[in-house]
Amino acid sequence: MIIVMEPAAKEEDIQRVVRKMESLGFRIILNRGDVMTVVAAVGDKRLIDPATIASMEEVREVKLIQEPFKLASRESQRTDTVIDLGLGVKIGGNSAPVIMAGPCSVEDDIEGLLKTAYAIRDAGAKVLRGGAFKPRTSPYDFQGLEELGLKYLAEAGKKAGLLVATEVMDSQDVDLVADYADIVQIGARNMQNFKLLKAVGKISKPVILKRGPAATVREFLLAAEHIMHNGNANVILCERGILGVDSHFTRNTLDLLAVPVIKKYSHLPVIIDPSHGTGRRYLISPASKAALVIGAHGLLVEVHHDPDNAYSDGAQSLTLDQFSSMMKEISELEKAISKTLEIKK
Ligand code: PEP
Ligand code: MN
Repeated sequence: MIIVMEPAAKEEDIQRVVRKMESLGFRIILNRGDVMTVVAAVGDKRLIDPATIASMEEVREVKLIQEPFKLASRESQRTDTVIDLGLGVKIGGNSAPVIMAGPCSVEDDIEGLLKTAYAIRDAGAKVLRGGAFKPRTSPYDFQGLEELGLKYLAEAGKKAGLLVATEVMDSQDVDLVADYADIVQIGARNMQNFKLLKAVGKISKPVILKRGPAATVREFLLAAEHIMHNGNANVILCERGILGVDSHFTRNTLDLLAVPVIKKYSHLPVIIDPSHGTGRRYLISPASKAALVIGAHGLLVEVHHDPDNAYSDGAQSLTLDQFSSMMKEISELEKAISKTLEIKK
């Protein structure tokens, strides 16, 4: 931690800061300039709140050198985390991007879900997604089939030979959801539901943690830290769009740069949800391709056998044919870029 003192700071002000930091276990290096003094405090106490030091008398500025998250940080683990999701599918590092797809909600039509499951599998997806517990902005919207939805999802996954991912909204339902799902999802609205983060920290199933609509990347990584701190290191970070200035043309602002930023500061796998990230069907393919080009370890895409009649998020769900075309375009991506740039291999 670097503590910059005000030019007017007296020796006693400097010593007060020095004593405080030493009492917290830091080693001090004092750098006395002509105008101001800089106190460098060396130690691994990330948990001290810089605001406490910044509010001390004659302190101008406090800078953190290490990020406050520890287990999730690149410093604690230099190599990428690769998570074994089951059925031979791995996510993270240099593993092939994992495509997860399926309806926003699991609906009371298992035939429709099965149709979607077979179609996404044939197109190359490895995980069937679908919500049984739905966080809805309005209480009058479809709230999900709950345990029946979990059963339908597990059945469709099994029949199609796909892994399944679904959201858990309440810490009391974590064991129930983990009984049916291969991957448990924490929704954007619950990114800072610390009780829920703690509860999924206690299970061993991989967790998709979605970024809150108004969360910074640092807050996002600290939310992952909660899960890891409670014992579950299998965290997949999912950028799904944040609140921006333009909700006329897009539902959210998809922060694609979060991918390389997270990869710099963390070893955890990071995926993109282009559906909630854009809210518009026509934007899903370009957003998905950009996500993979920028380095995402996977995609979480909403796909429905009949989007116009979906119970939720139909406007941002691809049809089965659109999904299959998008997957073909994705597989051509590398070739297309090399061709445009005429790269000599
Ligand atoms: C979802 O994946 O269906 C969902 C509710 O997403 P989010 O939490 O990102 O809004
Ligand atoms: Mn949705």
